[in-house]
Amino acid sequence: MSVYTPTPRTRVRRKPDRAAYDETAVHAVLDAGIIAHIAYVIDGQPFVTPTTYWREERKLYWHGSAASRMLQAQADGIPVCVTVSHVDGLVVARSGIAHSLNYRSAMVFGRARLVEGLEDRRAAMSAFIDRLYPNRSAELRPMTDKEIRQISLLEMTIEDAVAKSRAGGVNNMPEDAGWDAWNGVIPVATVIGRPVVDASEPGGPSASLDLYRAGARLDEVLTMAAPIPVYRSRRATT
Ligand SMILES: Cc1cc2nc3c(=O)[nH]c(=O)nc-3n(C[C@H](O)[C@H](O)[C@H](O)COP(=O)(O)OP(=O)(O)OC[C@H]3O[C@@H](n4cnc5c(N)ncnc54)[C@H](O)[C@@H]3O)c2cc1C
Repeated sequence: MSVYTPTPRTRVRRKPDRAAYDETAVHAVLDAGIIAHIAYVIDGQPFVTPTTYWREERKLYWHGSAASRMLQAQADGIPVCVTVSHVDGLVVARSGIAHSLNYRSAMVFGRARLVEGLEDRRAAMSAFIDRLYPNRSAELRPMTDKEIRQISLLEMTIEDAVAKSRAGGVNNMPEDAGWDAWNGVIPVATVIGRPVVDASEPGGPSASLDLYRAGARLDEVLTMAAPIPVYRSRRATT
């Protein structure tokens, strides 16, 4: 099993029993998500920007407008910290202090670099689409060079990483005994809704959208779709 070596910035001190450093645990959290929060500092001012991303092996990718200040700053190789988190349950207890959340989260560190070439960016955008919607890029109108030029794409090698999670029930305290307040866990999940069909669209969603059935959990769908990205192998052939 491959493990991210704990470092001073990833060693969990608070509730270390909830930490995991192995790739399987860290990547599972990353692959179940679609939004990351990316932290970086410009001129001493911290910023945290939510953005979509995807992972391939020990690399993360994210993209945006070529005019994005976040991307321009990060492309210079400044240190970034990326977090992804999922809420799995509201843990309600008999006292305020014992309330909690069930969650899965990951924190990863690295330095981003700009993916420069037009064809590399084109391949990456296809991989990004396919990561979310398996094999969908082949169905789409190819992106024009002008569209590709409007996109900045960042690649970050994960230097160190950690996952932290809480699962299970309420940790009531001895002082809570006898209080009448209900306690337990209220599960939480983001689920896919019914597709809103465009009036001009004759059929149902195509096969690339099969995973996105109404009622399916988004984190489970994203996990199932995750093995699809092939940006790096595509790039090697361009
Ligand atoms: C959805 C969600 C809600 C939360 N709500 C609260 C809350 O209300 N109050 C609260 O105190 N805590 C909350 N936490 C836990 C919180 O993220 C921290 O783990 C906790 O506050 C301890 O922080 P620390 O800096 O003292 O930890 P330390 O153990 O000192 O952190 C050391 C290192 O451990 C790693 N680490 C710490 N926390 C996490 C994490 N969650 N995921 C991945 N790596 C981590 C980082 O690399 C960090 O640099 C929540 C977590 C999640 C995911």
